Amino acid sequence: MKKHILIIPGDGIGPEVTTWGKAVLEQIAADHEHEFTFEDGIMGHAAIEATGNPLPEETLTKARGSDAILFGAVGHAKYDNDPTLKVRPEDGLLKIRKELGLYANLRPVVLFDELLDASSIKPEVLKGTDILFFRELNGDAYFGEKKRSEDRDTASDLMIYHRYEVERIAVKAFEAARTRNKKVCSIDKANVLESSRLWREVVQDIAKEYPDVQTVHMFADTAAMQLIKNPRQFDVVLTTNIFGDILTDEASQIAGSMGMLASASIGDGTGFFEPIHGSAHDIAGQNKANPLASILSVALMLDISFGLKEEAIGLTDAVRQVLKLGFRTADIATETTDSKKILGTKEMGEQVLILLRQTLSVK
Ligand code: NAD
Repeated sequence: MKKHILIIPGDGIGPEVTTWGKAVLEQIAADHEHEFTFEDGIMGHAAIEATGNPLPEETLTKARGSDAILFGAVGHAKYDNDPTLKVRPEDGLLKIRKELGLYANLRPVVLFDELLDASSIKPEVLKGTDILFFRELNGDAYFGEKKRSEDRDTASDLMIYHRYEVERIAVKAFEAARTRNKKVCSIDKANVLESSRLWREVVQDIAKEYPDVQTVHMFADTAAMQLIKNPRQFDVVLTTNIFGDILTDEASQIAGSMGMLASASIGDGTGFFEPIHGSAHDIAGQNKANPLASILSVALMLDISFGLKEEAIGLTDAVRQVLKLGFRTADIATETTDSKKILGTKEMGEQVLILLRQTLSVK
């Protein structure tokens, strides 16, 4: 299979982790006789420094011409504490999501048994958790009109949804539920927000077309509590942009670390694959970042964008084997981890490559 992949490393730990995402793609191409070609694009702080624009036109053109995009993260400390700055790295990310029509963000929260003790939640509560989040990505307060009063003392972000935006992601979530445990939990704040009342109404309408799928509705605050109390109750979770952003970070603790969670943003065109974490300035450039979320994002790319299920399963298995052998990056290490097996970004990436090659030689 021939595929052209755009790599957007971004800022902070982005380049460190995407290096390993690309390395596993190269290994898989060599092992399975695929032809994957690559080019790089800039976005975020790196792009602002180079061009003044967080998403240069050139990157967007490359994105439109690619079969899939592997993204790292954007963000830089200087913007975090200076809300007055007009151009921000995250603007690039929001723009590319809108321009490519990436309206559905899929975030699988699957706990590898080997990491049961890496979470701060009790193993007996966690074991067997397997959730697939569908976070809406093109609407909500993130894209609604933003206003600031002339005296600068009042600000607002319009929380807005249109029926078609809710319909298209709800259909994707219900379709996915049919291939899983046939349960959808839709999360909103319909008790206080009008946009959530529309959300619930539309989800109820779509649910009628899927009588074989059990649908429940939950308020976002209750969901935040239930995710920790009993995460196994969830199968497919369908939610808005802002609630999905917050709840999936919370859910990352089920998987042990932000460094373990992958995501796929899809719409009707090119898919965009990225770890859920940010640019993590606190550990950038120190060979400390966990590359597994980026590597698992590649598994999603292989499966969702290229239909290469066997390769996707092989890659996920290689990650599982590495964990089974006891190797950990610092974020998923515990008191019982053999200190010789606590690896840096590069060494963890190399272990996954070794296991990938071994899996192939066993076949
Ligand atoms: P973050 O996800 O970057 O980091 C949160 C914590 O998790 C940090 O302690 C970090 O060290 C740790 N962490 C994250 N990824 C890790 C990994 N792969 N391995 C080990 N530890 C990891 O979130 P933050 O600190 O709130 O934000 C930092 C910057 O990233 C900000 O500028 C923010 O705007 C940006 N951000 C970008 C994205 C994105 O590009 N998609 C998402 C979230 C935040």
